Amino acid sequence: MSKFRNFKMVGYVIYGRGSFDQLDEIITPHRKRDAPMIFLVDHFFEGKPLVDKIPLKGRDRVLFADVTYEPKTKVVDAMAQQLKDEYGTVSGIIGIGGGSTLDLAKAVSLMMTNPGSSADYQGWDLVRYPGVYKVGVPTLSGTGAEVSRTTVLTGPTRKLGMNSDYTPFDQIVLDPQLTANAPVNQRFYTGMDCYIHCIESLQGTYLNEFSKSYGEKALELCRKVFVEKEGWDEVCDNQLMMASYAGGMSIAYSQVGVAHAVSYGLSYLLGTKHGIGNCIVMNHLEDYYPEAVVEFKYMVAKNGITLPEGICSGLSDDDFNKMIDVSLGMKPLWENALGKNWEQVMTRQKLRSLYEKL
Ligand code: NAD
Ligand code: ZN
Repeated sequence: MSKFRNFKMVGYVIYGRGSFDQLDEIITPHRKRDAPMIFLVDHFFEGKPLVDKIPLKGRDRVLFADVTYEPKTKVVDAMAQQLKDEYGTVSGIIGIGGGSTLDLAKAVSLMMTNPGSSADYQGWDLVRYPGVYKVGVPTLSGTGAEVSRTTVLTGPTRKLGMNSDYTPFDQIVLDPQLTANAPVNQRFYTGMDCYIHCIESLQGTYLNEFSKSYGEKALELCRKVFVEKEGWDEVCDNQLMMASYAGGMSIAYSQVGVAHAVSYGLSYLLGTKHGIGNCIVMNHLEDYYPEAVVEFKYMVAKNGITLPEGICSGLSDDDFNKMIDVSLGMKPLWENALGKNWEQVMTRQKLRSLYEKL
């Protein structure tokens, strides 16, 4: 493997309150004759005013993404197949929603041109052909999915992204107005994904100055909105959207750590969602991120959030072993968090007692 990662970034970025109104102008040059633009919209927006602002032309189509569960490979495959059957090809896929919808949009774009199932491409650099033109429009801030080179999918045998140079969006539209009505809890969980990315990246062994610069900025912005600010206003939406972007850029050159590695186990076995799962785990990581956990608990209390407890009570040995297997399989995360000899530090027994606390 080469020494330095040469990573692909998103093609174009537009930022600003109201920038969504420029979507028509942005996508017009990418329209191909008789091939529609497909707007994949988070189901939360069904019947909401945002849908009326989508610049539909000709055979364009709005598809609502049911994100009750996080994206699955079979959902991606079915959606791509449906579009191929109906239209042959499409001009582009425009994902409008939270991290789940953004990941779905990236994956469907790739599956419009790559043969087989998206499950075949879960891993690193397995995707063979560029997908169709893809645009990401986040409506929640925190995951960094808008800038990342992966799309997290649950497949038949694992939860892993299609991580490739073809995965990043061609265009992202960062309009903080779109996050304005997010419920307090959801905004917190997704926002904490960013905070946790920063802590894991900044305290990880993979850190370099590139990652650090973005990570520190993102952390500063998270603190402004969740620690310093009284109440919530549009400046918070603006700041959290940039925190998410910078947090994603920080991870591009480093890795996440313990909270994510443990949370993946919960998600695999119990279907716990990414944001809330990370929070449930972070709450018990004082051995690994002592200062951050104090600050995290402060933010939980200040923002009036009640985290679920006891989610692992009543699980069998078999269940615990499954979570431990999934979690320990996330080797780069552990290595980033604990160093090269992480296997001596994070034993199965230690991880089991951590899961038992959740
Ligand atoms: P989400 O996309 O799962 O959405 C959570 C809920 O919020 C849903 O019910 C959705 O309908 C609703 N919602 C979305 N926008 C809203 C708005 N403006 N107002 C009100 N409700 C709204 O949540 P998320 O935390 O943004 O994303 C989590 C997903 O992102 C997971 O699937 C995770 O695996 C993925 N992820 C991907 C990456 C990556 O790099 N690709 C990184 C981190 C997380
Ligand atoms: Zn995350």
